[in-house]
Amino acid sequence: MKRIGCGDCGAPLGNMEIALNLKLQGRAAGTFFCLQCLGQQLDCPREELKRMAVFFRENGCELFSRRYVEEQGRDYA
Ligand SMILES: [Zn+2]
Repeated sequence: MKRIGCGDCGAPLGNMEIALNLKLQGRAAGTFFCLQCLGQQLDCPREELKRMAVFFRENGCELFSRRYVEEQGRDYA
């Protein structure tokens, strides 16, 4: 699996972050951002973004059940 990095700071992205990018920017999003950079762009605290991600996943959004990249021990915690 390929690795995807934040389009701003270059931090490696997890599946939850990628799913959230797709959800918020639309599926045609070409650039993904980490929670920190996404939060700055949207003027939204990263804890809030994380809560949104958990909410979407719990509501069965398919974007959040996909695996986009290989993760090691990272989850929604
Ligand atoms: Zn970033």
